[in-house]
Amino acid sequence: MTVADQLRSLIRTIPDFPKPGIQFRDITTLLLDPAGLRLATDSMAAAIAGPIDLVAGIEARGFVFAPTLALALNAGVLLIRKDGKLPGATIAEDYALEYGTDRIMMHADALTPGARVLLVDDLIATGGTARAAVRLIRKAGGVVTQAAFVIDLPELGGGDALRGDDIEVHSLVAFE
Ligand code: IMP
Repeated sequence: MTVADQLRSLIRTIPDFPKPGIQFRDITTLLLDPAGLRLATDSMAAAIAGPIDLVAGIEARGFVFAPTLALALNAGVLLIRKDGKLPGATIAEDYALEYGTDRIMMHADALTPGARVLLVDDLIATGGTARAAVRLIRKAGGVVTQAAFVIDLPELGGGDALRGDDIEVHSLVAFE
């Protein structure tokens, strides 16, 4: 079995979550499997080129893989959080949702300008979240050229959009 097939077999699909018509790809079943968690981490780490100073995880499921990847890459962890969660001075970036907007934040002093940052999340769909995270990291002076995801939904175009932002996109499993 390929790595993609092994990981696919450990990811559960929940129909109609969080609303009717959505097929939710659920990585909690992958996380429960020690070999699966290691395979996902090692496979993402192996795809990354060059030294990385910080792995930036997007709340919430990006927080699972940011530390495992950071340990594999000898990097630190940068938390990118939803609005109102961080205690220190923050910088923010807004992004469009189907209805309305959402906001992500990081600590304003979290990185030294020029720091090499790898972005990580469990899944990329439209790319709205990841692209906002790239803008946020760049606004803070970070250098982000790569992003890693366990799952890509290529039909939603997020990977292509992120490549248009000069990001090398690494994903392990694609779902139609
Ligand atoms: P995007 O901004 O449209 O690319 O959506 C990606 C964000 O939504 C990521 O933070 C994901 O964790 C989350 N997300 C969207 N769809 C799913 C899903 O099917 N499973 C798990 N997370 C999802």
